[in-house]
Amino acid sequence: MKKSFAILIPVIIAFALAACATTPAPSVNDSRVHVTILHFNDIYEITPVSGGKEGGIARVATLRRQLLARNPNTITTLGGDLFSPSAIGTAQFEGDQLAGRQMIDVLNHFALDYATFGNHEFDVKENQFNQRMKEAKFTWVSSNVFAAGGQPYAGVKQNIVIPVTDKKSGKTFRIGMFGLTLAANNPGYVRYSDPITATAEQIKQLSGQTDFMIALTHQAIDDDIELLQKFPQIGLLLGGHEHVNYQNWRGNFTPLLKGDANVRSVYVVDLYFDPQTGKTQVKPEFVPINDSLPEDPAVKTVVDKWMNIAFDAFRQQGFEPEAVVTTTTEALDGLESNVRTRKTNLTELIAKSLLRPYPEAELSLYNSGSIRIDDVLPAGQITVYDVIRVLPFGGKVQLAAIKGSLLLKVLNQGTANTGAGGFLQSANAQQVNGAWQINGKPIDVKKTYQLAINDFLASGKEHGLDYLKPGNPDFVIVNSGENTDIRQTVIDQLKNN
Ligand SMILES: [Zn+2]
Repeated sequence: MKKSFAILIPVIIAFALAACATTPAPSVNDSRVHVTILHFNDIYEITPVSGGKEGGIARVATLRRQLLARNPNTITTLGGDLFSPSAIGTAQFEGDQLAGRQMIDVLNHFALDYATFGNHEFDVKENQFNQRMKEAKFTWVSSNVFAAGGQPYAGVKQNIVIPVTDKKSGKTFRIGMFGLTLAANNPGYVRYSDPITATAEQIKQLSGQTDFMIALTHQAIDDDIELLQKFPQIGLLLGGHEHVNYQNWRGNFTPLLKGDANVRSVYVVDLYFDPQTGKTQVKPEFVPINDSLPEDPAVKTVVDKWMNIAFDAFRQQGFEPEAVVTTTTEALDGLESNVRTRKTNLTELIAKSLLRPYPEAELSLYNSGSIRIDDVLPAGQITVYDVIRVLPFGGKVQLAAIKGSLLLKVLNQGTANTGAGGFLQSANAQQVNGAWQINGKPIDVKKTYQLAINDFLASGKEHGLDYLKPGNPDFVIVNSGENTDIRQTVIDQLKNN
């Protein structure tokens, strides 16, 4: 490890110099104001992911320091999704779940400048949300997200103007920024306004007092594209939500940039504002974050502090997070885009494990949204903490007696939920030429099946499955699984596989 360091540091410096070298000769552009933006989005883990090879906020902190050394006018932006969901966030500490407290603390030490809301900020309870907002030392920019009463949350700005003055020329570049979030999460303490209407209002307010406008968003890419096509005044869109990187040029050839989730990649954007013409040149660079970048020691200390707090909490729940459960020969696929659309080796492993406590069960069912890791566990050692990352919510494994006719309806709804957390995963149920089979036999609508099911799915809270709960005469909980925990069930399955 040490050996490769010596080689890698010059590579990083070379990268920084190369980025500078792409700047045209300064003779005619002496007075240009240069601003660098470091952008990332959708961060759930405070540590590196992919077995430690990729991501890691402490590594991005090192990149930030390098960028600041190159250009003091460097700002950092976060395109939403930081409070939830994560394994660490479920840990109990000082009488409550962490629920993003660890992430805010890490980002405060990272010295993040600006963030907008993602849909997952509203996964947490209202008091937790308010507490996180108090803890955050960075500036929130949001133009279409309000408290239930319609007023902006305390301290949240609907738009901001960032004036950047070039030390040499004394010229000032005024960057306007506004924020948008998709209205996907409605816990009752939040209200959204239409993003297009909000944008029109923000552009009206910002034009005249800014030289360049940035939309900091967390919404579906089609909505981002529509935004750029409708509003040529936007000079740059920094987004999030898809978890995979994008560099699209839309509307007035405006760049639309999103990094990979968990800072597996970030964007570094150089802006060059020419005060004579009023024009701004935008140069984005895609930067993968991996173990070639050392971790910033100060940020790493904060990350370690929260990991220790969370691990202590898991130990109190009876889990030994660092214990090795098994060594796998193949990578386990928990990527959200896969587990919510089809079976993977990980979804099958969980489905089989649900059958363990109930030898009489004929099939198992669970919602794919229980799987939150959104990552691939590389072949090799699987720890208890890895299993907690896969299924951070835990929950019981129950046995139910379900009428075939209702089971058919549930299975079809699971298919209708493809792409969402309500897409259902199962053991022993499969569709052959469009017809459902249980253990290789066509489903019998009159028969009653013994079904192993996770308690969330059996609670009626899943999308389109509100009827799947106690009280439905065709769905009877036979064993409420009081002493079970789905994470322990998966651990047992891995051990005995
Ligand atoms: Zn999102």
